[in-house]
Amino acid sequence: MRAQVGKATFWLSGKWLEIHAIRLGLPVEKYFTSEAILPTSNSTFFNVAKDLIKKCRDYRDSADARAQGFYPYFRRIDDTFGNHVICDGEPKIMIGSNNYLGLAQDERVVEAACDAARRFGSGCTGSRLLNGTIKLHEDLEEALAIFLQREAVLLYSTGFFANQGALISLTEDDDAILCDRENHASIIDGCMFSPAKLVPFRHNSASSLRARLKRLPEASGKLMIMDGVFSMSGDIADLPSIIETAKEFGAFTYVDEAHALGVLGPAGRGTVHHFGLNDDVDLVMGTFSKSLGSMGGFVAGSAEIIEYLKHKSRCLIFTASMAPAVAGGVLKALEIMQAEPERMDALWRNTRKMHDGFRSIGFKIGTTQTPIVPILIGSETKAFHFTQRLYEEGVFATPAIYPAVKYGEAIVRTSFMSSHSDSDLDHVLEIFARLARELGTFDDPVYSEPGRRKNVFDFSLQYANGSEDVRKDAGAPPRNGSSLHAVIPG
Ligand code: PMP
Repeated sequence: MRAQVGKATFWLSGKWLEIHAIRLGLPVEKYFTSEAILPTSNSTFFNVAKDLIKKCRDYRDSADARAQGFYPYFRRIDDTFGNHVICDGEPKIMIGSNNYLGLAQDERVVEAACDAARRFGSGCTGSRLLNGTIKLHEDLEEALAIFLQREAVLLYSTGFFANQGALISLTEDDDAILCDRENHASIIDGCMFSPAKLVPFRHNSASSLRARLKRLPEASGKLMIMDGVFSMSGDIADLPSIIETAKEFGAFTYVDEAHALGVLGPAGRGTVHHFGLNDDVDLVMGTFSKSLGSMGGFVAGSAEIIEYLKHKSRCLIFTASMAPAVAGGVLKALEIMQAEPERMDALWRNTRKMHDGFRSIGFKIGTTQTPIVPILIGSETKAFHFTQRLYEEGVFATPAIYPAVKYGEAIVRTSFMSSHSDSDLDHVLEIFARLARELGTFDDPVYSEPGRRKNVFDFSLQYANGSEDVRKDAGAPPRNGSSLHAVIPG
């Protein structure tokens, strides 16, 4: 904080000044308002810059949720045994993980990760560009290129960086990025940082994409980006019509296969292969933080695109490369995924069982077609409460509220794995059915009067104005990834 006495200006601690101002009987509010930036020349006493951390001091949401006993985030896992975890000394069935093929705990994967660490150390301590490229990185790039039938692959330290890095590097000032409204946060952030204009289109709608494309200047560069499988709704992108439309207008096409690898397409090659569109999609992105049971991401495309990204992508150049244990573990997981197709079969058996099971209890699970199953609860408070009761009953799931989903349509997001046993899944369904009765889930207006109670935010935090507070941006569509609540597990 800067204080001015006469012509002299001092840099002082805000607290020190506040204490002394109170002692001197000065009007503290005048000098300590967070917004106040007083012009130095006119100020007679203090000059107070905007208090940047006022928002942190005022932040109450997490504390209030904790006080009400249903804070659902950052739960500590003390141990993991396959699809069961130990939290607070109790076992819980994990149905909130993206470990679709159960490979994160596979002994062979863990051993390969350990071997890699023994050989190359615990980290690469440098960027890929400089001292951080090891043989395992190149082996993994080659294995992925063969698997995905692409000329080349480039690894990034996370999937988030892969999307950001590629989007920022591939676009320029006069270009436009056409982005499905429900794309993942890493894509939205990539669009924000890109110099190109962001043009959102209606979720999974080729006609909305067409309308947007028609309005853009013919000569401008266009990049269309789409999740292959949507991380909240679990629906599959309508790639045949979307890609056809994009191509008609000469757009570059880019598909995020984060939730589709190991889940869809022959041998788990993803949505693009599922639809037989590998030759029509210019770039695919994927992560290792889901079916491949680890962390890190990649983009796969033509050799010339990958060569360009290798030398231009700041998210690659200015960060340390993927740790050896990660690369070693993922290489092994990729090998097992191809050698053991029965894992994908089991995943789909479990997926169908849970779709049918939830529907027959009476839950609405939206348009999901995949192991991601969003359970519609309705009100935000009830979604938090439901999740907390699940946890107490030994089931680990996570809620998603606005802006990850629409107002008043909060969900408990569940996702299933090949390694869940029938008895695990039956037990989960039994608990969901019991809690729906206990908590009156089916009496919520989203069930009893569908379509009526939209855009109502009733998360009754101490600082909200009442329990049915309609927020100023009510009516806005979901904006994946734009706040704490949009954090998607994994
Ligand atoms: N894309 C999608 C669709 C995702 O769901 C995620 C992660 N949840 C990412 C990208 C980012 O991947 P990573 O976890 O590897 O950063």
